[in-house]
Amino acid sequence: MSSPGLDAAALEQFRHQLLAMKRAAADAVDARLHGHGEHRHDEAGLPRHADETDDDAAAETQRQADVTHLARTATALRDIESALARIENGEYGLCIDCDEPIDLRRLQAHPAALRCARCQQLFETQLSRAGVRG
Ligand SMILES: [Zn+2]
Repeated sequence: MSSPGLDAAALEQFRHQLLAMKRAAADAVDARLHGHGEHRHDEAGLPRHADETDDDAAAETQRQADVTHLARTATALRDIESALARIENGEYGLCIDCDEPIDLRRLQAHPAALRCARCQQLFETQLSRAGVRG
């Protein structure tokens, strides 16, 4: 197994970090999905202005924000999952596009990073050129 300069201890540390991130992301999804309902029980004494909004746009905006947040968290979770899988495979720390080792400082800042800085930049440029989201 040709690990890109990552010893077992470093891998274990990244794995630990990724698992913590995964838990945090899962908790965030839970809070979004169930938070609103539970919140209303807690604040039963307060006026329920949220239910009585005659402005549908406000409710729609809130819903959009939730969806956007969930989508973002789902993407993050997917990256974390594949990073964990790559630790199992012994491929962790290699860029999925160019197969070069990802800079260690980059991994420390973004343990779920799948690409080296150069390929990530290219990837994001292509995404924004494709105009995925306006
Ligand atoms: Zn690369």
